[in-house]
Amino acid sequence: MSDVRNVIIIGSGPAGYTAALYTARASLKPLVFEGAVTAGGALMNTTEVENFPGFRDGIMGPELMENMRAQAERFGAELVPDDVVAVDLTGEIKTVTDSAGTVHHARAVIVTTGSQHRKLGLPGEDALSGRGVSWCATCDGFFFRDQDIAVVGGGDTALEEATFLSRFAKSVTVVHRRDTLRASKAMQERAFADPKITFAWDSEVAAIHGDTKLTGVTLRNTKTGDTSELPVTGLFIAIGHDPRTELFTGQLELDEEGYLKVDAPSTRTNLTGVFAAGDVVDHTYRQAITAAGTGCSAALDAERHLAALA
Ligand code: FAD
Repeated sequence: MSDVRNVIIIGSGPAGYTAALYTARASLKPLVFEGAVTAGGALMNTTEVENFPGFRDGIMGPELMENMRAQAERFGAELVPDDVVAVDLTGEIKTVTDSAGTVHHARAVIVTTGSQHRKLGLPGEDALSGRGVSWCATCDGFFFRDQDIAVVGGGDTALEEATFLSRFAKSVTVVHRRDTLRASKAMQERAFADPKITFAWDSEVAAIHGDTKLTGVTLRNTKTGDTSELPVTGLFIAIGHDPRTELFTGQLELDEEGYLKVDAPSTRTNLTGVFAAGDVVDHTYRQAITAAGTGCSAALDAERHLAALA
C-alpha cells in the first residue's frame, strides 16, 4: 500500500481550495485533485466577481481562483490537475484512484466536486457566458440595470431569478416551454403581480445572438414552430443544475435531487471520515463565499476526525 495520507480533497473550486488552505495550515499536507480540464471550478468561466468580500473593486473569476490556489499551495497543499475516476470510501482507510490508475490512500476525504448548471446547448452560449448569458441572478443581476432581460425556465428558480432581476431590469421576459409553470403557487403569484415581468408561453430559445456581447435571442413557439426575435442584453438560464456525484453513488447518501447529504450544520456525510462541501451539497445558496465557508467547515471537521484517530 502507498503511504496513507491524512486527507485527500476532490475538487478545486472555492470549497476545495479553502479546505486545502485550512488543512495545509493545520500541517495535514492535503493532496488535492483539481480536475483535468476544469481546475479552479465554476468561476473560471466568468468575468468580474463583485460579491466576494475583500475585493473592493471586484476581481476577475480566474484571478480569484488563481489567488486561492496559490494561497493553498503556499502552505504546502499538493495540487494535482487530474480527475479522480474511482473511490472506495467505506473503510477506515479510503482509496482514491486517479486517471492514470494510481491508487491513493487517506484517512479522510473531502468532496468538493461542485455542480454543473444545465445548458441550452446552443451555439454562442458558452462564448457569451459573462457577456450577457448567465446562470446566476444573484451574481450578475446588478450588471443589468435598466436593461431588457430574458429568463429561461418554469420552476421556482426561474421565477425567483425573474422576480429578483425585475428590481434592476427594465423588463424581464420569462421564456417557458409550456403554458403552465412548475413553480410553487406563491412564486407564481409574485411573478404575475410584477408589472415588469411578462411571459413567453410555449416558447423555447432557438438561437442566441451577439459577437462580443449578447444582443438578442430567437424564440420558437413549441406548438406552432413560429419564430420571433426578442432583443435582450441579458439571458438568464434557470433550467436546473446537476451535482457531480456519479463517483459516489452507492457509497454516499444523496438527497432526492442527487446532492450529497450531510449532517448539517456539520459537513459529515453518512460515511465516517468523509466530508462534503460547496455546491455538491448546496442547492440553496450556490455562491463562491458559501462554498468557501463550507470548505472551511469541512477542513475543520476533517481535522477533528483525524485528531480523534490519533
Ligand atoms: P466548483 O466551483 O464547481 O468546483 C468544483 C470543481 O471540482 C470542478 O470544477 C472540478 O475542477 C472539480 N472536480 C469535479 N469532479 C472532479 C473529479 N472527479 N476529480 C477531480 N476534480 C473534480 N458565485 C459568486 O459568489 N459570485 C459570482 O459572481 C458568481 N458568478 C458565477 C458565474 C458563473 C458563470 C457560474 C457558473 C457560477 C458563478 N457563481 C458565482 C457561483 C460559484 O461559481 C459557485 O457557487 C462556486 O464556484 C461553487 O464552488 P464549489 O467549490 O462548490 O464548486
